[in-house]
Amino acid sequence: MITILLMAETYEFRTIERKWQERWEREGIYRASETDQREKYYVLEMLPYPSGDLHVGHAKNYTLGDAVARTMRMLGYNVLHPMGWDAFGLPAENAAIQRGIDPATWTKSNIANMERQVRLMGTSYDWSREVATCNPDYYKWNQWLFLRLYEHRLAYKREAPVNWCPHDQTVLANEQVIDGRCWRCGHVVERRNLSQWFLKITAYADRLLNDLEKLEGWPERTRTMQRNWIGRSEGVQFSFGIERLDAKIDVFTTRIDTVYGATYLAIAPEHPIVADLKTVISKKNAAAIDAFAEELKSKSELERTSLMEKEGFFTGAYAINPLSHEHIPIWVTNYVLAEYGTGAVMGVPAHDERDFDFARKHALPIAQVIVPHGGEATVPLEQPYVGDGRLIASGDFTGMSSERARNAIAERLTALGVGGKTVNYKFRDWLVSRQRYWGTPIPIVYCETCGEVAVPDEELPILLPPDVPITGEGSPLARDPDFINTVCPRCGGPARRESDTMDTFFESSWYYLRYLDAHNEASPWRESHAAHWMNVDQYIGGSEHAVLHLLYSRFFYKFFHDQGWVAGNDEPFQRLFHQGMLLRGGEKMSKSRGNVIGIDETADTNGVDAMRLFLLYVTPPEDTAEWTDEGITGRVRFLNRVWRASEPFFETARSISPRELPPVSSPEERALVRAVHVVAKSAEDEVMSRRFHFNTTIAKLDELVNSMTVAVQRIPESPALHYAVHTLPLLLAPYAPHIAEELWGRLGHTTSVHLERMVQPDASALAVDEITLVVQVNGKVRARITAQPDISEADAFALALSNAHVQSQIDGKEVRKRIYVPGKLVNLVVA
Ligand SMILES: [Zn+2]
Ligand SMILES: [Zn+2]
Repeated sequence: MITILLMAETYEFRTIERKWQERWEREGIYRASETDQREKYYVLEMLPYPSGDLHVGHAKNYTLGDAVARTMRMLGYNVLHPMGWDAFGLPAENAAIQRGIDPATWTKSNIANMERQVRLMGTSYDWSREVATCNPDYYKWNQWLFLRLYEHRLAYKREAPVNWCPHDQTVLANEQVIDGRCWRCGHVVERRNLSQWFLKITAYADRLLNDLEKLEGWPERTRTMQRNWIGRSEGVQFSFGIERLDAKIDVFTTRIDTVYGATYLAIAPEHPIVADLKTVISKKNAAAIDAFAEELKSKSELERTSLMEKEGFFTGAYAINPLSHEHIPIWVTNYVLAEYGTGAVMGVPAHDERDFDFARKHALPIAQVIVPHGGEATVPLEQPYVGDGRLIASGDFTGMSSERARNAIAERLTALGVGGKTVNYKFRDWLVSRQRYWGTPIPIVYCETCGEVAVPDEELPILLPPDVPITGEGSPLARDPDFINTVCPRCGGPARRESDTMDTFFESSWYYLRYLDAHNEASPWRESHAAHWMNVDQYIGGSEHAVLHLLYSRFFYKFFHDQGWVAGNDEPFQRLFHQGMLLRGGEKMSKSRGNVIGIDETADTNGVDAMRLFLLYVTPPEDTAEWTDEGITGRVRFLNRVWRASEPFFETARSISPRELPPVSSPEERALVRAVHVVAKSAEDEVMSRRFHFNTTIAKLDELVNSMTVAVQRIPESPALHYAVHTLPLLLAPYAPHIAEELWGRLGHTTSVHLERMVQPDASALAVDEITLVVQVNGKVRARITAQPDISEADAFALALSNAHVQSQIDGKEVRKRIYVPGKLVNLVVA
């Protein structure tokens, strides 16, 4: 007896969840097809790095994407929801160094485990499109795309000071240096001069910047971060002459109106002009510049521009201002960087904070040339005046406003042939060389006769050789003679392969296109498939990628668009959603903190549906959430309530169609039917508005199930209750797909609930009874207005004031007092 009772009251999630996952897989119900005529919807979560194990924090991201995919499918869209692995990168190599495990073996076993866990979450991915970027059938196309970029001169090699992570023993892109530190390991980045491969992302600067305007479906903060990272500034570039030398030094400034206030010229000690200056300055000064350059060699950009004290000294040479013809001293300084801008800056202490401090410290003159409108020069100047104003002591330009002077001076410089207006960008080309093993080999060889030669397409992929010793020092591929030594594809002579591999962000800049045609051996993707599926309608991922992956992908996609490989809009991601983190005990989950909640244990203890419901319910998805045991057990109880409210009616509810409103004869029945449609409306609204606040939908599901629980006792024979029972699996399906499928099956269906249409919100079912509000003006009844029973006080006043009769009584007079009796009366007291 007891056993039977328990069986009847508890939902057996362990067996049921596994059963349905196996069946969904077997029947391939989540496969997407290019030939499907329905409107397409491409929803994508950023592809994970296979680090080994997933926890519930990861599940928060995938569950959100899955709820979106499932809802859109049920709203009648042809949904593409793929999954893959960003499988190259350093952790695999570090595992090799620390534990002697082959990076490929380590990565593949992690993928196997994580794939199992992602399936365990009950996600509706189309696994037939799965990709792993470390597989030759994927990275072959990296190499192919690299060659296309190379042909268009968008991939090039040059020697440059680069960011070097001493811990990871590799260079980093500027985007991978966060506050002067390595994005991966947090070590302070050093600088080195190395010959490296770059992608010319700056060629797309204007489009990457301007098209941010198009991305209305992106968080404004992310767009701002990209805008700032690109860092466009309009200004003037012009040349200073040099005393006793037939040479010039270029500077860029956004404040050419202050040019008459330049009292020194600051250059980087590495500036190429130093070689020329050495011919006119003392040996002592020349040696001092070299020593200074040596001292700064390994200092990161952050250290030089922010952390270090601003240092410098006079070289002994003078620059000549092309407008005032003044001779001003040339200083070398630590805060000017050779590879940023022109490597030289005019020092205007009166109108720039940094220059002011530097001038005071080194007793350089301070010459005020801008005064506030209607103001006078301040003597002595106690602080720099950095605003616009009126020019003084500025030759022909004296008296002009800053704005007018900027144009006039630019024109004069152009007329003199020494400069003119220009646009400057803060961001640099993308450095893609990595001196590591576990990445895509760059398809270039170096021939003694022909020099740098591209590997022909027919020879791709250049395979990553197995069994290469990895020590963590130097480039593993450079030490492998079998890999390095090759023949020149052009002349057949001896040649060496490039030993650098690609930044893994290369792979993730285009993976969303490979999903469209994952098994294509002839091209990275078919244009017809791209035309069908692109752009990604909804992208979901962390905000930490704002200027890395999201900027690189936009650059790649614009290039593909220019080649005609993708049609339509030249932006890959139409809408972007950044999910919030899941914490435990107020902290991010991590193994080292010991606060990780695993997927496997949660699935086993509480069930997958309960986990999914908790993750969607705990907060709006963009907010940071906190994992609690009470929270998840609350969802377990909810599922048991669902089961208990449905189980008695598995037979009787079959005859009540979920597609037709049932007859209702009491307010209680009406309320029950309304509760069904409130959930359906919320489900639809949350996806169509792109808010994805499924927490509100699930709260409404709670209310529905509570009403059903009451109705089971009071009106067990009611068609309205049977209707609620029959629609409930449809309403639950996006969030708790297993119990939904089980209930649907128990109600006699033989096809999957996940291929069904969602309940369509019905206006008549949603309508509520109206109430009548009496409106008084100065105590006299002037109108009766109808309103919804739950109308707020503010809405009641607004509605009353919008009534024409009431308006005529108020007659433009001030409303001095407002009285509201909820659901009954509005009284307005006017003067
Ligand atoms: Zn590092
Ligand atoms: Zn050759």
